[in-house]
Amino acid sequence: MNVNEISKTFVRRTNSVREALQRLDNAGTGLLLLVDAADRFERTVTDGDLRRMLLEAGSLDVSLQALPVLQSVVLDHAYTRQDALALMNEHGINHLPVVDASGKAIRLLLRKDIDEQILLSTPHLGEHEREFVEEAFRTNWIAPLGPNVDAFESELAEWVGIRHAAAVSSGTAAIHLSLALLGVGRGDSVFCSALTFAASANPIVYQGAEPVFIDSEPESWNMSPAALERALSTARATGRLPKAVIVVHLYGQSADMDPLMALCDQYGVPLIEDAAESLGATYKGKASGTFGQMGIYSFNGNKIITTSGGGMLVSDDESLVKRARFLSTQAREPFPHYEHTVIGFNYRMSNILAGVGRGQLRVLGDRVASRRRIFERYRSELAHVSAIRWMNEPSWSMSNRWLTVCTLAPEVTRLTTSEVMQRLAAERIEARPVWKPMQLQPVFSSAAYFAHGDVSVSQQLFERGMCLPSGSNMTEEQQDRVIATLERVLAT
Ligand SMILES: *Cc1c(COP(=O)(O)O)cnc(C)c1O
Repeated sequence: MNVNEISKTFVRRTNSVREALQRLDNAGTGLLLLVDAADRFERTVTDGDLRRMLLEAGSLDVSLQALPVLQSVVLDHAYTRQDALALMNEHGINHLPVVDASGKAIRLLLRKDIDEQILLSTPHLGEHEREFVEEAFRTNWIAPLGPNVDAFESELAEWVGIRHAAAVSSGTAAIHLSLALLGVGRGDSVFCSALTFAASANPIVYQGAEPVFIDSEPESWNMSPAALERALSTARATGRLPKAVIVVHLYGQSADMDPLMALCDQYGVPLIEDAAESLGATYKGKASGTFGQMGIYSFNGNKIITTSGGGMLVSDDESLVKRARFLSTQAREPFPHYEHTVIGFNYRMSNILAGVGRGQLRVLGDRVASRRRIFERYRSELAHVSAIRWMNEPSWSMSNRWLTVCTLAPEVTRLTTSEVMQRLAAERIEARPVWKPMQLQPVFSSAAYFAHGDVSVSQQLFERGMCLPSGSNMTEEQQDRVIATLERVLAT
């Protein structure tokens, strides 16, 4: 309840109990604010307070002079949502009068108005997921195979324009399978984008191989062709070319594939695309994830579409995808007696989750459009905030803008990203730093790293970069709230 409406809740010592009860009825707040002639707040008045007065006085005409003095909890006008909620929780109340510097009541804050939290990226279901899942229940296909799995694979392959796809339990599982399919093992090395989530690199270690991290270039934030070239020529000089290169498409933006593919071709090294974040994005008009020998997608809960957990391995090479399905179902040879000639995995997607995926695929185009709209909104509404630089979209890229990402310009603001994120958190807005690069992770401290040039671009992006709430189900009001808060924080 804002400044204009709050006067409806005001009562004064000169008012009678009868008048107070009428005000309480009209205000609809369940609570009145006792103020003096200058609207300075004294205490709250509840239904119970008035009833007690009535019992004692036996008359509706007695004035509120008899109301005991009470120290009510109030909130200073410079509050954050976090302060307000903490105070409400401490006192077990759901409302708080807000006072200005002179003690004047300026607002009545209700818990329901402030406890909403805006998250980075939440699942956003469409209308068809339930039908596909119900179908699986009805036909008792509650297994890691079945018609939804087959259909999800062919529908996703068609969506991105590739020949074959294998649905698995996670994006990480898909990366792991891709490395197993290329025969990556002990003593091998695999190159991987440095600026990414650890799941891109962990499967290299699952296979007993060694990761080598390749820096980003500043335009797309993705793998630097210059750094890759140096890493490859260094590897050739030491007679130890990598078994594969994993190129990540960060936050929905494709890497500059042409030079990266040319280098991999030149050195004869297979390229795997980690397109976990870039489903629905394109590079020069072709779907992200369809350029390498294999590509992988993730349907984790925070991704652009989700099956709550899941992944897909795609390739134009049918033998690779067939082999992926074989390895992902415990590598069972086609005999009734459970014959195994190689080590397998239990990585197949369930038919129920594939039903969710089929429904989600039908809204993927909408989800890309929504996320791009949210990015554009942030960019245009905050265009005057010179401390913010937006993640670029090179001419060859159509990003799905999975997350809206920006950097803070140190020459404009002294605020660090963690300070800004803390201020957002105090207003119940979730923001996150850009991925901490793999070469800076304690677990990978011994891995080799090739920087883009004199500066480590991935490290600089980590230090200055910040992801803003970007879910396709965010309301305009929620976007406004993020925009207004950022404006306020960065204006100081
Ligand atoms: C989410 C993600 C993964 C892992 O996918 P899961 O389905 O969560 O296993 C891998 N790489 C990147 C870049 C991701 O963002």
